[in-house]
Amino acid sequence: MYLGIDIGGTRLKAGLVDRTGRIERMAAAAAPKSREALEQALPALARQVLDGAAPAGAGFGCKGIVDTNTAEVRTMPGEWGFLVGVRLRELLQGVVAPDLPVSADNDAKAALAGEVAWGAARGRRDVLMLTLGTGIGGAILADGRILRGASGVAGHMGHVTVEPDGPLCICGNRGCLEAVFSARAIEAEAWTATHQGCVSPMTNVLRTTPAALDCRFIFDQAARGDLIAQGILERRIKVLGAAIAGLLHVLDPEVVILGGSIAEAGAALFEPLQREVDWRVEGLLKRSVSLLPNGVADTSGVVGAAGLAYLAAFERMV
Ligand SMILES: [Zn+2]
Repeated sequence: MYLGIDIGGTRLKAGLVDRTGRIERMAAAAAPKSREALEQALPALARQVLDGAAPAGAGFGCKGIVDTNTAEVRTMPGEWGFLVGVRLRELLQGVVAPDLPVSADNDAKAALAGEVAWGAARGRRDVLMLTLGTGIGGAILADGRILRGASGVAGHMGHVTVEPDGPLCICGNRGCLEAVFSARAIEAEAWTATHQGCVSPMTNVLRTTPAALDCRFIFDQAARGDLIAQGILERRIKVLGAAIAGLLHVLDPEVVILGGSIAEAGAALFEPLQREVDWRVEGLLKRSVSLLPNGVADTSGVVGAAGLAYLAAFERMV
């Protein structure tokens, strides 16, 4: 059994995950607004899911950047900013055995840990993973280990520059992959097209029902033949494919795993993207690198967090 804790979303979540990656028990609470509130809420939540069980390890998946040696949060965007400087393992003092191994990492790396332990990266040593959602998260498995880099930032593939003079990115750079291919970026273009008066079935809906705007809606409209939706997606899938091809040339992984809400579009994303990647890498890699959907069907983040604990236990054995 592993205790997995997800921090940084709209809810605080904890789950007890068994050796096969199945969630035995799970609990969630409203996101705390202060460090003091977190210090109250998290131990209570952990006690609730443990219910007397003694886990073999605990893992935190956390937005921002975490020092994996000390489990201290280094940077944290947005409302969870109060976490900077907090040593996550200390939040479990008195809840778990004092010598229990506690791991912590960025949530994208936690998601990859879950895939390595129980999902599409199982048995593989070199894997790229991208989570395509409101932003783009990324993590790299290189030679069997999750790549962390000199300052723990490695793997932020959403911030590879794909258009040097492109749109501003939340990181301060211009033209990052995330500023071109993310749910927010795709939705922004559909909204701009509507606002500028472009006429199509999709913009007609958005003009009267702005709340309909989300990435899934744009994929649906493209599937129904909406030319504006198709144009937006074609260009952006091409950019994503070019970025992935560049990453393949650098890292030469066995496969690429795509997760996140946009990956749920399935073949509408995977097929054109695979074609775009394939022709770009054929000359150098001499093979097609498969793009795979994620294998861990967990949107809560607790399985990935537990995966960090599972992998840490495995690394201690070897
Ligand atoms: Zn960026």
